[in-house]
Amino acid sequence: MALQVVWFKRDLRLADHAALHSAHAQNQPVLHLFLFEPIFKAHPNWSLRHWQAQYQSALEVQHQLAQKGQVMLILHGSAADVFSDLAEKLPLAKVHSYQETDVEVSFERDLTLQKFFRKQAILWQEHPANGVFRGLKNRQKWDERWRDFMSQPLAKVIYSKATLDQSDWLEHLQRKFALPAKIKPQLENYPAAFQKVGEAEGQKQLQHFLNGHYQNYSKHISKPLQSRTSCSRLSVFLAWGNLSLRQVYQASRKAYLKSTSKRNLKNFISRLHWHSHFIQKFEMEHRMEQETINRGFEALHQAADEERIEAWKKGETGYPLVDASMKALHETGYLNFRMRAMLVSFFCHHLWQPWQAGAHYLAQQFLDFIPGIHYPQFQMQAGLTGINTVRVYNPEKQAEEHDPHGEFICTYLPALQKIPAPLRATPWALSPLEQSFYDFTPGKDYPLPIVDAQKQAAKAREILHEAKKWPRVKQESLRILQRHTTAIRNTESRTQTVLSQKR
Ligand SMILES: Cc1cc2nc3c(=O)[nH]c(=O)nc-3n(C[C@H](O)[C@H](O)[C@H](O)COP(=O)(O)OP(=O)(O)OC[C@H]3O[C@@H](n4cnc5c(N)ncnc54)[C@H](O)[C@@H]3O)c2cc1C
Repeated sequence: MALQVVWFKRDLRLADHAALHSAHAQNQPVLHLFLFEPIFKAHPNWSLRHWQAQYQSALEVQHQLAQKGQVMLILHGSAADVFSDLAEKLPLAKVHSYQETDVEVSFERDLTLQKFFRKQAILWQEHPANGVFRGLKNRQKWDERWRDFMSQPLAKVIYSKATLDQSDWLEHLQRKFALPAKIKPQLENYPAAFQKVGEAEGQKQLQHFLNGHYQNYSKHISKPLQSRTSCSRLSVFLAWGNLSLRQVYQASRKAYLKSTSKRNLKNFISRLHWHSHFIQKFEMEHRMEQETINRGFEALHQAADEERIEAWKKGETGYPLVDASMKALHETGYLNFRMRAMLVSFFCHHLWQPWQAGAHYLAQQFLDFIPGIHYPQFQMQAGLTGINTVRVYNPEKQAEEHDPHGEFICTYLPALQKIPAPLRATPWALSPLEQSFYDFTPGKDYPLPIVDAQKQAAKAREILHEAKKWPRVKQESLRILQRHTTAIRNTESRTQTVLSQKR
């Protein structure tokens, strides 16, 4: 009997899964696949933690499917190799998956696969994912399409009763495309300091947040320490698809209607819209993975200084809030929005480094890495779009406003615990008397600043403001506005569209 295949990617869940739904609706045997593909491992934004999160999530899906008598294979190999092997041995009828908006190599892989499937007369049905649509030329009517997509009923799967003939081919595939012996133990060893992943954890976190734990959402969103418990912390589940954005949107809207603290949920729900907005931008212009979205800024010519880059990567710039943010990322894979933006600003403005090296490194650290959010956000925070205000974050001021007692700083830079709270963000400024009193020597116990942040910030601001007047930058800004925004709509009316439900 013909075989249906569900190819899981960043959609590692069973609930609201359109590809799973369409495959099982055929009432034929279904094989479920998840692939660890070398093309992603070879990319400079890859890190082990991404695969660790995917592995944990895939194991849970595999287990859940097994309880329903279904088979899921977790393999390592190129999609082209795996599918051509499969097609040789089995009568593949149709492959069901979500459309993937990822780095360029994934688009190239898809083109190769499309040709292969066509030649083999295998159908490939790709479902739109998370309110992101393929082939758009501009954003006209995008908000409405997004809302319609989010308002559709959740996909419910009725599992096919047809059984899979589990003969030699299963064993052969598992042997041929087994996870390499070097990698497997690393994938199994999920660090305890990372947020747990998987569909069950995602559901738990969603319920926890919507069950009143959003009360301090807006108040704490920029605070590096408090945001860790006051924000939704759903990004990791959305990144690997343990939850669909639609599930989160519908549950949040329900909570919003009943809530007495609507402002917090309104702010949260508009960020769900941003989630798709940024990925849509990347979908429509994925060259921004390598190139500056506003081509005019290519003329900036920022030269790489390896010493500066290394200091930033290690969290040894001498600016405590910057360094604590980097150490928090190393240790936990998570950072709130404001601190992510500050790390980018410090790298691109204060250290005046080319954005690509910083973008790859942060991508590796984020447990919730999503290329479609990451690259556009990184360039926006670097001031390279030409259409957004250039924000140069002052690390001292950020510490004063968002970590006034230095609690976050001390959590990740214990060397600074010896110093009293008001001085923790500026240890270089300790007087000789204070140094001996607190037994703390700047430059020995903690690095001295590698640059003069204030001077560097002023310089960067001036250059970027001048650059915004360059004809090529202006021309590109116009192009970006036309392609990626619905310029006539103001934020308030957009929020109303996002909050109102189609049905
Ligand atoms: C340089 C930079 C890189 C980033 N890279 C990523 C990334 O790789 N993956 C990622 O999920 N987020 C990224 N963000 C956006 C944001 O920082 C995180 O989504 C957020 O901090 C995750 O925490 P949370 O789930 O508690 O967010 P909440 O504030 O509770 O928001 C809920 C959800 O809304 C979405 N969201 C929130 N803020 C934004 C935003 N500014 N832009 C787009 N979507 C948003 C996310 O899906 C998030 O999970 C990046 C931001 C910056 C400045």
